Amino acid sequence: MSSQSTPLRILMIEDDRIEAELIRRQLAQSAYTAAEIEHHQRIARALERLREERYDIVLLDLNLPDGHGVSNLTRLVGACDTVPVIILTNVEDERTATDLVREGAQDYLIKRHITADLLARAIRYAMARKGAEVRLRESEKRFALAVAGARDGIWDWDLETDVVYYSPRWLDLLGLTPEQALPGPATWLDRIESDDQTGLRKALQAHLDGETPHFEYECRMSNAAGELIWVLARGLAVRDEHGRAVRIAGSLSDISDRKSTEAMLVHEALHDALTGLPNRNLFLDRLDLAMRQHRRDRKRKFAVLFLDLDRFKAINDSLGHAAGDELLIEFGRRLGMFLRPGDSVARLGGDEFAILLNDVTNLSEATRVAERVHELLSQKFVIADKEIFATASIGIALSDVKYERSGDLLRDADLAMYRTKRRRAGSYAVFDSFMHETALQRLELETDLRSAISRGELAVYYQPIVSLEHMRVVGFEALMRWFHPVRGLIGPDDFIPLAEESGTIGALTWWIMREACRQTRAWQQSDPAFGDLSISVNVSTRLFSDPDFAQRTVRVLEEVQLPASALHLEITENALLEHEAETLRELSALQKVGVKLHLDDFGTGYSSLSYLNLFAYDTLKIDRSFVSAARDGSRDRRIVDALVNLGRVLDMNVIAEGVETQEQAQNLRELKCCMAQGFWFSKPLPAESAEALLARERSLASSSIRNLTHN
Ligand code: C2E
Ligand code: MG
Ligand code: MG
Repeated sequence: MSSQSTPLRILMIEDDRIEAELIRRQLAQSAYTAAEIEHHQRIARALERLREERYDIVLLDLNLPDGHGVSNLTRLVGACDTVPVIILTNVEDERTATDLVREGAQDYLIKRHITADLLARAIRYAMARKGAEVRLRESEKRFALAVAGARDGIWDWDLETDVVYYSPRWLDLLGLTPEQALPGPATWLDRIESDDQTGLRKALQAHLDGETPHFEYECRMSNAAGELIWVLARGLAVRDEHGRAVRIAGSLSDISDRKSTEAMLVHEALHDALTGLPNRNLFLDRLDLAMRQHRRDRKRKFAVLFLDLDRFKAINDSLGHAAGDELLIEFGRRLGMFLRPGDSVARLGGDEFAILLNDVTNLSEATRVAERVHELLSQKFVIADKEIFATASIGIALSDVKYERSGDLLRDADLAMYRTKRRRAGSYAVFDSFMHETALQRLELETDLRSAISRGELAVYYQPIVSLEHMRVVGFEALMRWFHPVRGLIGPDDFIPLAEESGTIGALTWWIMREACRQTRAWQQSDPAFGDLSISVNVSTRLFSDPDFAQRTVRVLEEVQLPASALHLEITENALLEHEAETLRELSALQKVGVKLHLDDFGTGYSSLSYLNLFAYDTLKIDRSFVSAARDGSRDRRIVDALVNLGRVLDMNVIAEGVETQEQAQNLRELKCCMAQGFWFSKPLPAESAEALLARERSLASSSIRNLTHN
């Protein structure tokens, strides 16, 4: 557009030739001497040309043969609105002039006043103004495009007039049509979720008061459909010379996606992925809350139920993990179904679940829930096309101000669960502080037990096994005793289960096996009369998972040079339940080398008879519960009778355990039971006493053991 480089191109529309010629001359005398002037007398032709060519300026006469007044200008601007227009007229009229400028004319010249200078100046200003206007319009257009294209909506709030401009995108975010959006702040503020209102107004005011460098707030807004969406509003105030905010403008972005991702992450952190139930963390949180409420108001009691599925491992192992998972999901679902709204159910991990019962008034409400869980489980689960019946052991702990941490309360519920599982799986128990004591004691005992062997605190006691026919000692059962430095003598029933759980049972068994075999070998060698003495050693189920069990046993025998046939291993019938294949293999290996196997406590386990089929035991030991109850004509006597016969039919020896009276011994003899053991003959004895007993028997070869021990 510069006048120096390229000549100015002027479109002149003027029907009067003389006027046109005058303009030409004035231009020739002006700064625009080199201007190229194209002259037309009619507006129609000029419009055509305007569409085809590019001009720097238009000089327009308002009175033309084919058009008149402001409408000429309107048509011109309509055809091309980037070229500046100067009006040439004979009429001096303010109103027309204003109208013309409003319609887009850059200037208005009265023909008779036109001079070369005036014209040149008018042209120069007109082009400058138009250029700026075009540039402004372009930048406005770009801005409008940017606003329309941006993901964010734009708002602009004039605080003086309280008029708010909302960009189309802003309206779009909320699904509003321009008609629905009144240009006031209510369009925005009224849609904000009521919980967020105060926070947003505070943040806004803080920025307007100059307390914050900018305004920023995340909140929920309801869109046109009435759904809540998460938005982030940001803004910056424009201030007057006194620092007072006069206007604030900013953006609005939809952050619903981010919020839902955040919510998902929070959910994942607090829920169990498999069942979707709250996890241990969330459960402890809720428990904390319940504990705080209880501390404030003791009347608000609650209970925690700790649930553990029984034999879940067996289900998992036999049906596969997918089936196990399905059972857990279904169990969680059933639990969730019958709880009241304020209660919580959580999966703590593995097959452990927990329930928080809020607002219980007494213990029986909690035990009733435990009973209902059992009922719930009595309905079969159909998993992987198989019907499964599951049971759970449940421990209950009640709110008590003594608890400081939620973890402690949960631990006590766990303890109660553990206790009931050991005693009677599939039932429930309520925690009492006595359990806590016991648990602590157990923990101490467990630690002590680890060093009991090395400290020489263990001893083997020997209880004679007597042939009823000859009334002689044919062997001993080795029974373990623990002389605890503080607690004194502890019986095996109190520490063997502990040893089994903590894993020390292996060390204990190998210790007693070696010691008892060594002692027995010594007795055998002390006198030919004792050459056939046998030793029975109790072996825990757990040891059969050791694939070297048979080999290690043989090594012990070789070490102490005891004939294999003198060693009798006592196994409780439940042993075979757990590790069938391994157990059978180890037992067969031992039987092959001559070791004898005794089935201990026969009659107390599950489905005893089927176990007799699984393995060819050498001897049956009838549990003392039958023996002690067996009186003349009683049902138990008939059971003992049947068991003795069973042994005979299956070609097994029978030992009756727990004979305490002469009458019982007599009964057993009548029933032709071949061997017996019990306090009537002798209590378990330390090695020296057992040895003394043997010596006396030897010296009184003809007298019965009963005479030996009781005289
Ligand atoms: P068990 O193998 O059935 O041993 C017999 C238990 O009955 C012994 O109890 C014995 O003292 C007791 N007993 C014997 N005669 C009578 C009687 O006439 N009346 C009464 N009321 N009881 C009698 P103890 O020594 O307390 O052992 C208990 C259980 O501990 C044993 O039962 C056995 O299962 C286990 N046990 C003992 N020593 C060991 C061991 O070294 N290893 C393993 N794994 N278990 C052992
Ligand atoms: Mg035994
Ligand atoms: Mg027994």
